[in-house]
Amino acid sequence: MRFRCVRCGKCCRELEVVIVLSDVERWAKAGMWSLLAHVVRRRAKGWLASLGIEYYFALKRRYGVCPFYSDGLCRIYDVRPSVCRLFPFAYSERGLAVHPWARRNCPGLGVGDQLSAKEEEELRALARSIVRELIALPYYSTFLDELIADVKRGVSSRSKR
Ligand code: SF4
Repeated sequence: MRFRCVRCGKCCRELEVVIVLSDVERWAKAGMWSLLAHVVRRRAKGWLASLGIEYYFALKRRYGVCPFYSDGLCRIYDVRPSVCRLFPFAYSERGLAVHPWARRNCPGLGVGDQLSAKEEEELRALARSIVRELIALPYYSTFLDELIADVKRGVSSRSKR
């Protein structure tokens, strides 16, 4: 597999970004709790529903675009969500696969050096951990709902001052 991101920003403008617990842990470690104000709960459809998931968390898009995409750049690149780290690859039942949307739309696929065996293994491990976290959602969704509500209350009370 060959891939080099050419920074066209298409994925940031067109795809939904799913959020899992490890993303929130990454933001917490960086002291970036306020990012949670952009997270919403959604009803699962398609492949997410096929995993037995009823709902999931995702970034609320702003005018149809990732809220952290600005002037062609990701404003939270160092703490970007796991699905963005994995993209243009995705989990499939057969292991690591190219994301179906990316197959048609990502100009970075087939460009650059061949991924090394180590890089492929890291991506495979990341894909597995995202799916494990999605399946474990019922065990931490209430915790995330409460955190999101707290952060949104804090953000709205600060904006009223
Ligand atoms: S669509 Fe592909 S090349 Fe374009 S920004 Fe996303 S990952 Fe990079």
